[in-house]
Amino acid sequence: MWPGVPRPDARTSRAADDGVLAWPACHPREIEPGSAGASPYRHGMDRCDECAYRYDGVAVTEIPDLLVALAGDYRVRLRGAPSTQLRAHPLAATWSALEYGCHVRDVLGVQHERIRRAQVEDCPEFEPMGRDERVTRDRYNRQAPHTVADELGSAAASLAETLRHLDDRAWQRPCVYSWPARSRRTIAWMARHTVHEAIHHRRDVDRVLAAARPGPSR
Ligand SMILES: [Zn+2]
Repeated sequence: MWPGVPRPDARTSRAADDGVLAWPACHPREIEPGSAGASPYRHGMDRCDECAYRYDGVAVTEIPDLLVALAGDYRVRLRGAPSTQLRAHPLAATWSALEYGCHVRDVLGVQHERIRRAQVEDCPEFEPMGRDERVTRDRYNRQAPHTVADELGSAAASLAETLRHLDDRAWQRPCVYSWPARSRRTIAWMARHTVHEAIHHRRDVDRVLAAARPGPSR
């Protein structure tokens, strides 16, 4: 229960699903456009040009199972490739497959914490997770791939369990999200964005693993 926070009507919920919402608790906060930097999003975060993910193509009820299935995809990759291949950097300005796995694991954990926070705070604003800093600070490329696979699976299962218990009102709780531009978003959007992170980086992992694969077939 969140006293004083009115429930959005159906039309508001619809608009909120697009991440552009009018929620009184968020109203006083003026949102300035952020500096998005290089971004594949040329359609206002409704579609990714690189992996073709569509934010409106996923029902919130599908998200928990999707996250668990995606964690399985990472498990296959992190447990199926040799360590040298997982840690290789064959492509310029690109993480290794293991670093992508660590990143997705941490995204799942950070998003889970943010979603829990948005259930009890009115329109919290989230600090960036420090994605690039974590790679070196937490020595992503020196972590054990099997452990990362296990941790990624646990993070996905835990987030999925939380999401399974959200009702319509909880999905529409607002927050201020900083990427790719500072904007009001809903938990529904955040969950869809988390699915996108996992799908998008699964593609990155496959690309890096293919480039790192030894042998004459390349
Ligand atoms: Zn994408």
